[in-house]
Amino acid sequence: MTLSTPWAVLFCKFKDDLRDFVTIKLNDKMAMFTGPDAESIPSFWQNVTYSALDLSGSQAFGWLTLDKNQTDYVGSGANSDGRIELVTWARKAAEDQKIDLSPFYGTVVFMSTATDLWGSSKMVVCDAKSPMSAILQEYGHGYGLKHSRAVSSPTADYSNPVCIMSGMIFGGRNPTFAGRFGVSGPLLCSPYVDVGGWLPRDRVETISTAGAKPKITTMFLSSLGNQKAPNRQVARLHFSAPYDATYYIEFRAGGWDKGITPAEIAVHQLRPDGYSYYAGGIVDPTVSSGRSWVDPEFDLSVRIERIVDSGDTAEITIGPRAAALALSVRTIAAAKLNLAGPLGVRGQILRPGDSSLKSSLLTLVNQ
Ligand SMILES: [Zn+2]
Repeated sequence: MTLSTPWAVLFCKFKDDLRDFVTIKLNDKMAMFTGPDAESIPSFWQNVTYSALDLSGSQAFGWLTLDKNQTDYVGSGANSDGRIELVTWARKAAEDQKIDLSPFYGTVVFMSTATDLWGSSKMVVCDAKSPMSAILQEYGHGYGLKHSRAVSSPTADYSNPVCIMSGMIFGGRNPTFAGRFGVSGPLLCSPYVDVGGWLPRDRVETISTAGAKPKITTMFLSSLGNQKAPNRQVARLHFSAPYDATYYIEFRAGGWDKGITPAEIAVHQLRPDGYSYYAGGIVDPTVSSGRSWVDPEFDLSVRIERIVDSGDTAEITIGPRAAALALSVRTIAAAKLNLAGPLGVRGQILRPGDSSLKSSLLTLVNQ
């Protein structure tokens, strides 16, 4: 189901800005908010939500001159009333120009001078100094999303390294890229796509855990941003022990995630507090066949088997921690023998006259 959410984008200047606004390439900035360009704000949110949100019909207006000077603006994180006032001023300036704002889902105020950057339900404020990646996050707030976090720093916002709702800090990493309209990406982490109600059921593999131990499952994951993916794109598992958390596993590579270099199998938790927490992952799975990520708290491991489809699909195995430990013996043995790839390893490891892979492995790793 598609929800039409066209935004009115009001390009505004304070009445004492007599200089900065003339230096801004208005058509280019307007295209960022309204254009069908592959790397515009509407295409980002349409891609992130698998077209559940439709931003076509977004329209830009301006320049509009506010009946205020720059110093009249006193909005801040501590003064949210002051922030909302700016949106009121901008909407009034638009209505004074006979612009009908009633058909629009929300309002973006773009200021010509460094003013502020924030988002709240159906409202975005940004300015000429705001990177596109940061504006994408404010749209996320406009659609009701919170910042994302990490298991390793659970009270700190902006600590998920692969989620737009952690920009521009991303826990100290940089998953963005230089796009048509400046610094852009990465995608929204899949727990928040799900929270928004935008994750189609047929893109998700739900793996049974009985609350504590996942069923061993080998599966293909297409990259999260692929709009016509031939495989599932998210694996989801629910745990009730040691505490309540739903896990999401995704493959992040290419497209809006092309700034995530190297590519990553990323693992997130969604907790009952409504926040998404980055739990970890396998960085550079293209060179990591057989490598596992083991969760430090939950009985969960993820193993990369191989990458196919020119880097767009990862084959992974999800299971309890013991599954990864059992594999690591096999991996070590394969490494000792310089075997290439997982195929045929069994046949190459088995010693003549020994029908037990385990005893052959133990002999090998103890050599
Ligand atoms: Zn934010």
